[in-house]
Amino acid sequence: MIEEIPQLNNFELIKSNLKKQIEMAQSEVLTLEELQTIEQKINNLENLYFDKKVSEEDFKKEIGQLYFERNRAGIVNLSTLSEFHEALKLCNIDDETIKKVLAHENAHSSMAESLEVENNYKIRFVELADGRIGFIPSVEFGYPLNATPEQKREINQKITNAPEILSNRDKQRLDIEVSKDEPDIFQK
Ligand SMILES: [Zn+2]
Repeated sequence: MIEEIPQLNNFELIKSNLKKQIEMAQSEVLTLEELQTIEQKINNLENLYFDKKVSEEDFKKEIGQLYFERNRAGIVNLSTLSEFHEALKLCNIDDETIKKVLAHENAHSSMAESLEVENNYKIRFVELADGRIGFIPSVEFGYPLNATPEQKREINQKITNAPEILSNRDKQRLDIEVSKDEPDIFQK
């Protein structure tokens, strides 16, 4: 006997789960300043490691701690592009912006896939200086376990550099100067 698969209900279920995840992520967030401090530390540590100024062991320990601090609050993980799309719609941003965000993040993700590097879409909520909640869409990726520092540097550069137009955060990762009038944080 073939069981009937409730397609429509599944979609509604995914949507309501996403809604819950977004609400939960917004209920406890890092401030933008906290996030930027952690990301700066990650970039610095990665660069030291790529230059072989930090041992493999110390790198793993410290980067693990920083990832933990960065990801302890304010995050929704999306495993597919369509889930990511749905979540962005639930954040009430306009279609034009959603299109741009999807194209940008998909470029990161496709590059990661082509390099066989594990990655996922994320939306990160942060508290802005004026108290409002902003959100930052991104793709995060891990490095293959046995990759050398040189290979990891190359992976980082290729994935970060993949979109046609880079965001401020991409530029910071690549050590490119950032101009202030390019916002990549969205507000509801
Ligand atoms: Zn980017």
